[in-house]
Amino acid sequence: MRVVVDLTRCQGYGQCAFMAPDVFTMHGQEALMYDPDPEAAQRERVLQAAAACPVQAIHIDRMATQHRTREPELSYATSHGDDAFKRDGHIVIVGASLAGGRAAGVLRRDGFKGRLTLIGDELYEPYDRPPLSKQVLTGTITVEHTALPHLREIEVEFLSGTPATGLDLAAKQVRLADGRQIDFDKVLIATGVRARPWPNEQEAALDGVHVLRTLDDAHRIRERLAAGVRRVLIIGAGFTGSEVASVCRDLDLDVTVVEAGPAPLAGALGKVIGEVAARMQRDAGVDLRCGIKVEALDGDADGRVRGARLSDGSTVEADLVVVALGAVRNIEWLAGSGLAAGPWGVATDAGCRAVDINGLVTDDVFVAGDVARFPHPVYHYQFMALEHWGNAVAQAEIAAHNMLSDQAHRWPHLSLPVFWSNQFGVNIKSVGVPTIADELVIAQGSVEERRFVAVYGYRGRITAAVTFDQAMWLDFYRDLIQRAAPFPPDFQMVGRPDELLAVPAEGPPRLTPAEGATVVVTGHDPAERRVTLVRHQ
Ligand SMILES: Cc1cc2nc3c(=O)[nH]c(=O)nc-3n(C[C@H](O)[C@H](O)[C@H](O)COP(=O)(O)OP(=O)(O)OC[C@H]3O[C@@H](n4cnc5c(N)ncnc54)[C@H](O)[C@@H]3O)c2cc1C
Ligand code: SF4
Repeated sequence: MRVVVDLTRCQGYGQCAFMAPDVFTMHGQEALMYDPDPEAAQRERVLQAAAACPVQAIHIDRMATQHRTREPELSYATSHGDDAFKRDGHIVIVGASLAGGRAAGVLRRDGFKGRLTLIGDELYEPYDRPPLSKQVLTGTITVEHTALPHLREIEVEFLSGTPATGLDLAAKQVRLADGRQIDFDKVLIATGVRARPWPNEQEAALDGVHVLRTLDDAHRIRERLAAGVRRVLIIGAGFTGSEVASVCRDLDLDVTVVEAGPAPLAGALGKVIGEVAARMQRDAGVDLRCGIKVEALDGDADGRVRGARLSDGSTVEADLVVVALGAVRNIEWLAGSGLAAGPWGVATDAGCRAVDINGLVTDDVFVAGDVARFPHPVYHYQFMALEHWGNAVAQAEIAAHNMLSDQAHRWPHLSLPVFWSNQFGVNIKSVGVPTIADELVIAQGSVEERRFVAVYGYRGRITAAVTFDQAMWLDFYRDLIQRAAPFPPDFQMVGRPDELLAVPAEGPPRLTPAEGATVVVTGHDPAERRVTLVRHQ
């Protein structure tokens, strides 16, 4: 059986862990871990747990959509599209992971009976990545248990281990590395991101230096951890690096984390909350060094990593190095396609339709998941690219719906970003965009106890909320953000401190639109005016 918990909805009540303790466990007070592929003998208990979950976050064998649970009327099969296309058309999805697999399921659910081709460069059926830095590394579940539900049950031609190398919009074809060309009527781009490698290739090739993005990466790191290591070095204290550090401490391993920024998670949540995360790491025994860079990795005569030299002149010994320097978008295969695709992602309109380099919206090309860069009306139509599980699912649903719908019935992708992370026994969640903020207040709870809600504001309105072990409040703040409620919040809440003290959020510096221009506009009259990409070497 396959189980998926929508952890964007889970509020950490723990009923599931009570009903099916062999499948669901609580790590700390609210951080839920679970086995996505439990023994068949657990079925009855898992069904009871799913029924008991107060927010209906547990899905068994197939994943219901966010829209289905929140607004049932939206889940009826689309009836406003081109019937001939829905019967005989051919949809190609490039990228066989969360967004691609999810879109395939929604297309079938919503009445697409034509040909569906899913192209993936990995050898596996779609699998879930969040457990890779959590349960898989602790050894609680094996990598085989991370497969996502769905694919076998829907009729889809799955081309695995087959990278796409080009997209020809005029001929409506996807080119594959093996020389084949696949015709399509509509195509969905869902090629996500890959881990940013260590910049020095020789050092990156040392035995014991790893990144973490794929099932194979997780398997390799897990094997190292299980074989026994003396000291782990983690480069980068974003979510992935911090989660790996947490696992290392769970396994009682010595771990050093080196972070160039002022604090862990500061890039996503700002320095104020980053400092709370820093205290959490240090209390757990992590040797955390912030404001410092790794300058070089050193190996021994056999090519095994043995340590690193840091920018403050110090050195660190390590026989396992995890490089967690963020992600690079998988857009190279789109070079020459004419789409607005670059290091920032593939630009779309608010309905997941791709935009070309002239800023024109395409008709038959859609984009979803981590590779997409889309305008969000709530944030001044600012384009954003998110690496969030919930966003990949929501965008896949919108893209699939819009592929089957005529203009008048297309949906905009308006859901607010929601992210979760489990580390050091704490469930961290955010809703909205904490980097679009000039101030924050601790609106509920206590930072010292690491149970609190931080509310972020920008120019007098609420833009985001971050909870530490207080996930039950997230929906409340989501509504406030959607309503552009005033900041600081002026209501009485459970656990509200006597005085709300707004402090600078100290987020990362924001890019100004003029920075690093990559396009020029050519031509004079509207018929010949075009945008051309300028490539920086
Ligand atoms: C270790 C880890 C932990 C995470 N934890 C969390 C978490 O706790 N909470 C959270 O909200 N999010 C988390 N995430 C993020 C979440 O997993 C991603 O947002 C999600 O996987 C995005 O799905 P996607 O389908 O858009 O992209 P991806 O999962 O990146 O999939 C893209 C797929 O396309 C394939 N591909 C790329 N190029 C080509 C090509 N040219 N041809 C064919 N195929 C191609 C890739 O190999 C890949 O299989 C985590 C991610 C990782 C790696
Ligand atoms: S909200 Fe549901 S899935 Fe989350 S811990 Fe509670 S019962 Fe389990």
